Amino acid sequence: AKADGSRARIEVYEGALTHSDVDALQLETDLRHALDHDELRLFYQPIVHLADETLLGYEALIRWQHPTRGLLPPGAFLDAAENNRLTSKLGAWVLRRACLDAATWADDLRVHVNISARHLAEDGFSELVAAALEESGLPPHRLELEITESTALFAAEATLHAVAVVTDAGVTLALDDFGTGYSAITALHRLPIHTVKIDRSFVADVVTQPSTAALVHGLLQLGRGMGLQVIAEGIEDLDQAAWLLDHGCAMAQGYAFGRPAPLPNPAEVLIGEVTDTPAEDVAGELLP
Ligand code: C2E
Ligand code: MG
Ligand code: MG
Ligand code: MG
Repeated sequence: AKADGSRARIEVYEGALTHSDVDALQLETDLRHALDHDELRLFYQPIVHLADETLLGYEALIRWQHPTRGLLPPGAFLDAAENNRLTSKLGAWVLRRACLDAATWADDLRVHVNISARHLAEDGFSELVAAALEESGLPPHRLELEITESTALFAAEATLHAVAVVTDAGVTLALDDFGTGYSAITALHRLPIHTVKIDRSFVADVVTQPSTAALVHGLLQLGRGMGLQVIAEGIEDLDQAAWLLDHGCAMAQGYAFGRPAPLPNPAEVLIGEVTDTPAEDVAGELLP
């Protein structure tokens, strides 16, 4: 049984590893082992200002350096974590690792961390964030938590409270995959959202499909009207970048600016340039 939203993730990795390949129980066992044996990695993808391609920060994206299967994307294993108690263990690992890594970067660079709905709803979530910030020394305003529309829509009282505690401390919230849910607008009202990330399914067609262009134009106006930061996701070519810049989108993320890659070298980050980091498909070789 898959949680909602899993379908989209699986489709991203069509042709790679599919769930039907894997015995779910074995996957769960292996994932537990992975957590205990340091097989998980965070890759980082640059988020840039569109106007001049300067760095704003990085999104942390989990990978599993599997002993026999190689480097696995989150679509190959996150559902197994969602269906059991691994959620909080995995989420805690990601938060801690991302904060420790980001604390080594230049002063103002932010780190974006994806948070699962289930983890956010758990007791102790806000304390976990506070502990990750304290241990790493990362200032709260440099941490942005990415949640999805459904997380925001179905958030219970306890979740709203946890969100209030972390945002009061200075941590910001991004609404991921914006526009793909049933009620993107309602989601914006339920939680104190700082940033919206326009889903890459829209960006993909923005230059060629007039209806998609109109939709993205509307999302950008909405974001601006509400005083939100807007990041366009999944920019793969310069035509898309030019269109978005023309239509008032200030920030972007996508292969055109850099693929997810292992921890950026702090020295490079200090120079502030978006280097052409090793492509993800070869990155596995870089890892021990
Ligand atoms: P997301 O948060 O929307 O992350 C963006 C996804 O789009 C990433 O896939 C990224 O590699 C991919 N991407 C970025 N730019 C481009 C582009 O130009 N073209 C294309 N085709 N793809 C692009 P990834 O890393 O496989 O992650 C998939 C999803 O898994 C993420 O979507 C997020 O929902 C989830 N995820 C990743 N890491 C974590 C994590 O640490 N915790 C949780 N709870 N979820 C995570
Ligand atoms: Mg995200
Ligand atoms: Mg997204
Ligand atoms: Mg996504």
